[in-house]
Amino acid sequence: MTPETTPRSKDEANLLELAGQRLPGGVLGTARQRDELAFVVKRAQGARLWDWSGREYIDYLLGSGPMFLGHGHPAVTRAVTQQLADGTTYFMVNEPAIRLADEICRAVPCAEQVRFTSTGSEATFFALRAARAFRQRDKILKFEGGYHGSHDYALMSQTPKSPKAFPAPMPDSAGIPHVLEGEVLIAPYNDLPTVEALLAVHADSLAAVIVEPFQRVIPPRDGFLEGVRRLTQRYGIPLIFDEVVTGFRFAYGGAQEHYGVTPDLASFGKIVGGGFPLAAVAGRADIMQGFDPRSEGTSAFVSQVGTLNGNPVAAAAGLASLAELRKPGVYDRVRAIGGALMTGLADLVKKLGVTAQVVGHPTVFDVFFTDTPILDYRATLTNDQAKLKRFNEACLRRGVLKGGSKIYVSCAHTEADVEHTLAVFKAALTA
Ligand code: PMP
Repeated sequence: MTPETTPRSKDEANLLELAGQRLPGGVLGTARQRDELAFVVKRAQGARLWDWSGREYIDYLLGSGPMFLGHGHPAVTRAVTQQLADGTTYFMVNEPAIRLADEICRAVPCAEQVRFTSTGSEATFFALRAARAFRQRDKILKFEGGYHGSHDYALMSQTPKSPKAFPAPMPDSAGIPHVLEGEVLIAPYNDLPTVEALLAVHADSLAAVIVEPFQRVIPPRDGFLEGVRRLTQRYGIPLIFDEVVTGFRFAYGGAQEHYGVTPDLASFGKIVGGGFPLAAVAGRADIMQGFDPRSEGTSAFVSQVGTLNGNPVAAAAGLASLAELRKPGVYDRVRAIGGALMTGLADLVKKLGVTAQVVGHPTVFDVFFTDTPILDYRATLTNDQAKLKRFNEACLRRGVLKGGSKIYVSCAHTEADVEHTLAVFKAALTA
C-alpha cells in the first residue's frame, strides 16, 4: 500500500488536523511535509516505515541519518531495554557514557577526549566555544552552504538566496543578533585559493575553521581538506570537522579516516547516538581540557553543562550500534548497496536523457537537475528545485521516502530494495 493506491485514513487526517492546530505549521522542525502527501509515522522497522493509513515506504530518510543500521535493530533494542531497567538518566558519570567515549577515541583519529551533548547543533556550538577559549580569539570561518545545526553561528550563509561577496555572511534565520554577522567569515567550499587568501588577511582574528569534510552531498576535491589542514596548521587555528553526518558512516573512523586528514576537533551526532538524542565533541586533549571543571574560575574554563549529557540510554544505544558497525564487512556491504542505487540512478538519468547528475557518496547522495558541476553551494543554486520537488513527490507517491535534498542508505537496505527503488526512480523521472 502506497499513497498512490491507498487514500489517507480518517485517523491520520484527524492527527494531521490536530498537528496543524498545536504545532506551528503542523510540523516539528524536521522533514517538511505540508501537502496532500503529508503523513504521520506509525512505526518503522529495518528499512521500512509505515504511516497511520497503513501505507508502506522504503525509508531513505532514516531519521535524517541516525538509523544507519535500520530501524529497531535487535542489538540496539536489547541494549536499550537492559539500560531502561537500570534507570534512564542520572546527571552523573555512568558506565555506558564512559565506554562510548572510550570507543569514540579508539575509532576516531583526532579524538583523545570526548564531551557529550544531546544534539549535533550543541556539539558544533561547544566545539566552537572550546576553540575560542583555547585560541583566545572570537571569529570563526565556515563555508557557504555548510550546515552545522541551528544555532546563531551555524545559521550563517547556510542557504543564502542571493549570496554576498566572500567573506560576508548572511544570516539564515530571523532572530539572530546582527552583531554576530561580524563574528563569522564565509568561504567557498572546495576553493582552496580563496581560503588561503582569506586566511592571509584574517588568520590572526580567527578562533576556528569549521567544515563539513563532505559538505551536504558534495565531496571534497582532491587536496581541498589537506590544504585547509595545512593552512590552519600554519596559522595555529583549530580545525573542526563537523562529522555529524560522516562520523561512523564514511568509515568507522569517519570522514577523517576516509579522507586521511585529521582535524583538531570534531563533532559527532546521528549514528553515535543510535537513534537517541546524543552527540559529542571530540578532539585534542589540550583543547578539550577547557571543559575540565578543575579550571573553573579561570579564563580557560569552558562551561558546558547539560541535563542529558552522556545519557545512559542513548549511550547504550550508541555503543550497541558501534559494536554492530565493527563487524567485518558491514561497510563494504552498505557501500555496495548504496553504490548500486547511486549508479543505477545515474544510469537512468543518462538513459532517459534527463538533464541531471547524481552527486555524493554511496551512503548519502542525491540527484541535481542541472549540468553545472556541483562543487560548491553556488553551483547547487543552478539545480531546478521545482523538478527536484516533483521528483521527491513522485517517489513518495510510489512509496519511496527520501529527504528534500538527500538519500541516506542503511545497512538494512537490500538488493531487492535497490531494484524496487530504481523502478520507482524510473517512473518518477519519467513522470
Ligand atoms: N552538523 C551537520 C553536518 C548536520 O547534518 C546536522 C544535522 N543534520 C547538524 C550538525 C545538527 O545536528 P542536530 O540536528 O542533531 O542538532
